Amino acid sequence: MLVIQAQAMGMCFGVEEAISTAHSLNNPQEVTILGEIVHNTRVQQYLLALGFASQAEGARQELPSSPGVLVTAHGISEAYRSRLQGKVIVDTTCPLVTRLHKVARRYHDQGFRLVLVGKPGHVEVLGITEDFPDTVVLPSLESAPAGLGEKLAVLAQTTTPPDLFEAVYERVLELHPGAIVEKRDTVCRPTRQRQQAIGALLKRVQALVVVGGAHSNNTLRLCEQAEKLGLPSLRVEAPAELNSEWFRGLSLVGLSAGTSTPAEAISAVYRRLLEIGRSLRSPIPRGFTNKIFTSRAHS
Ligand code: SF4
Repeated sequence: MLVIQAQAMGMCFGVEEAISTAHSLNNPQEVTILGEIVHNTRVQQYLLALGFASQAEGARQELPSSPGVLVTAHGISEAYRSRLQGKVIVDTTCPLVTRLHKVARRYHDQGFRLVLVGKPGHVEVLGITEDFPDTVVLPSLESAPAGLGEKLAVLAQTTTPPDLFEAVYERVLELHPGAIVEKRDTVCRPTRQRQQAIGALLKRVQALVVVGGAHSNNTLRLCEQAEKLGLPSLRVEAPAELNSEWFRGLSLVGLSAGTSTPAEAISAVYRRLLEIGRSLRSPIPRGFTNKIFTSRAHS
């Protein structure tokens, strides 16, 4: 079985920097992480072991009792930030999320209604909708309605697949003849690179394994992309979740990972896939060989 790795995958610089900032704090026991700094169970457990408290993403109505709070790379709204007055804020908002906030603010101030292509209720999306409550969040092409207004600005959650963003924009345009419909592509570069890499990978494989957490939006999107092409996909966080029977009969398997996934987790899954291939005696296509895993997480 040949395991082909995506050319770009794994943890993005925004999440890496957030973890690095958390790691550098010398008073973790005084800080509550608001939501998940990374959708990865092992990293979260490690941070809890350092002494951080954690507040579930669904519990944002309550304020943590700790003197300090850590804002994750997903960012928060200005409305939420004002509720945190009196707390020491460790802000690890990704600069590419900050860029989305600035674009949203600018369009809103110019009288545009925001149309955000993204996942309703996602923590990054809440960072926009809490400040601009009349924002319309569209998770799919089918969800785009008519009659949204005369001045619309179509933006993207940073992890939206670029082709979905373009398709939704075209649909909104079509449904609003005569309206001013502007578009600003706020998909982040790491997401774009990973999407391109997965597109190339899916042309070459029979099935896809994605390493990432169950709450990681971009991880689930990678699986969806495979399934749209009729390829089976499997999401795992750790090698122990891989069942060798799933791979029986496969000779070309792709490997990718969400932007929350550390390189070590990808490497461990890769090694387990090679073991499975050997145990099943699955043939490697002529002229190919499995390579030593190399992290391509940075971009
Ligand atoms: S996915 Fe993109 S926007 Fe989000 S933290 Fe990573 S680099 Fe930043």
